[in-house]
Amino acid sequence: MEIKDAVAKPDSLLERNIIVTSIEQVLNWARSNSLWPLTSGLACCAIEMMSAAAARFDLARFGYEVFRPSPRQADLLIVAGTLTWKMAGPLKRLYEQMPEPKYVIAMGNCANAGGPFVDSSYTVVPGVDKIIPVDVYIPGCPPRPEALIQGLLELKKKIRHPEVARRDQHD
Ligand code: SF4
Repeated sequence: MEIKDAVAKPDSLLERNIIVTSIEQVLNWARSNSLWPLTSGLACCAIEMMSAAAARFDLARFGYEVFRPSPRQADLLIVAGTLTWKMAGPLKRLYEQMPEPKYVIAMGNCANAGGPFVDSSYTVVPGVDKIIPVDVYIPGCPPRPEALIQGLLELKKKIRHPEVARRDQHD
């Protein structure tokens, strides 16, 4: 648009250069592109999580590679592996130490529902969601790194469209 047109029609200039949104939407957009996972792993699935962050699968492409050593610096807990009742308390404590808003991915059959141990061992929690809320479940024993990346992209959608995510939960 030329300057003389803009001066003649200031409203059209405004329409082309202003985006109407809310602070919450901007924050969710930023959060969804820069998750900071907690460095934690419980069993074999954690090997695939580490692999996802390494060079071959390159989680850094999506902005999710900054694994933090402290729950106070993390907004994503990937529960990768078998959760035992003995570890349930420490895991819940880690979750509670993470600042809001925070998200949880259950990675693998053990984290989803106890996996192959659920009927054979009284020590295994039959699903992380018995202890803390879960946003995304990734099946597999173990899930491949691509599956974890897909789960992270599903979480990205939930963060960007919380109203849709809430509707899903009620359906
Ligand atoms: Fe290990 Fe399979 Fe359980 Fe993952 S789901 S922690 S690979 S037994």
